[in-house]
Amino acid sequence: MIIVTRPDATDDEIDAIRERVEAAGVRTHLSRGEHHTIIGCVGDEEPLAEIPFLSLPGVERVHQVMKPYKLASREFAAEPTRITLGQATIGGPEIAVIAGPCSVEGWEMLSATADVVRETGAAALRGGAFKPRTSPYSFRGMGVEGLELLARAREEAGVPVVTEVMDTRQVEVVAEHADVLQIGARNMQNFSLLSEVGRVHRPVLLKRGMSSTIKDLLLAAEYIMRQGNADVILCERGIRTFETATRNTFDLAAIPVLKRETHLPVFADPSHAGGIRELVAPLSHAAVAAGADGLMVETHPNPACALSDGDQSLTFPEFRALMKSLPPFAEAVGRTFPKAKPAATKASVA
Ligand code: PEP
Ligand code: MN
Repeated sequence: MIIVTRPDATDDEIDAIRERVEAAGVRTHLSRGEHHTIIGCVGDEEPLAEIPFLSLPGVERVHQVMKPYKLASREFAAEPTRITLGQATIGGPEIAVIAGPCSVEGWEMLSATADVVRETGAAALRGGAFKPRTSPYSFRGMGVEGLELLARAREEAGVPVVTEVMDTRQVEVVAEHADVLQIGARNMQNFSLLSEVGRVHRPVLLKRGMSSTIKDLLLAAEYIMRQGNADVILCERGIRTFETATRNTFDLAAIPVLKRETHLPVFADPSHAGGIRELVAPLSHAAVAAGADGLMVETHPNPACALSDGDQSLTFPEFRALMKSLPPFAEAVGRTFPKAKPAATKASVA
């Protein structure tokens, strides 16, 4: 940490600042310039975190040198984190796609989607059983029944499943049924929930809050990792801005910034970012070209009848076309893309 003092700071004020830092067990180094005196703090900055430096007489500004996230930071791990999910390795050279409906609505639609997921070479099936909806009058998911359908789809189609957990009380039951726990944008800073999923042995897909900075997202991941769960996948899903032509504003730059800052895998969700079906392919292409490790895409057998997010859900033909269009984008940035699998009978997959 570097403390810049005011031009009129007195020697007594500067001494008092140094004493405060040194009382916390951190050494100081003084550098007197023409207008400002700079106090460099040498050593572990953590004990300084709670000191309200700007309130100390003589302090003009403070610069943090160390990243506030440690476990998630790139310096912490020499290699990128890789997470095994069924046949796929998230964070490896191959791009992974998680696909499925916004909500689990019943067996027929889920099973049909699971077949498409498997056949296209996607890594996992997604579908919400507990849905965070802006209006309490909207469809809020099938709950535990939805989880049971996901577990059945995983069993019958042989694909891992990803689903959202909204509440600390649901963590246990969701972890029993799902391979990956999703924390949605609206819960990215639900710190009790983050800590709770940090205690279970399931990878967590952590979506960026719609008004959260990249630093907020990394600190949210830190909450999970601090409890012992290192398998966190970050997901850029668009942020709220003044723009109204899209549901959210896709923050493409967040992808390379996150890749620079952290060893954790970085996904993009073009469905919630754009909110319109037509935008899903271009945003997916851009995300892969920008270095994303994977995509989360909503697809539905009949989007016009979907109980949530129908406007942004791809039809199956559109999803298949998207999967076919992605390999050149992956190859352009030195990545590989999973091959489509020939349609298999259920018996041969089991
Ligand atoms: C979802 O994935 O269906 C969802 C609700 O996403 P988000 O939390 O990003 O809005
Ligand atoms: Mn959705």
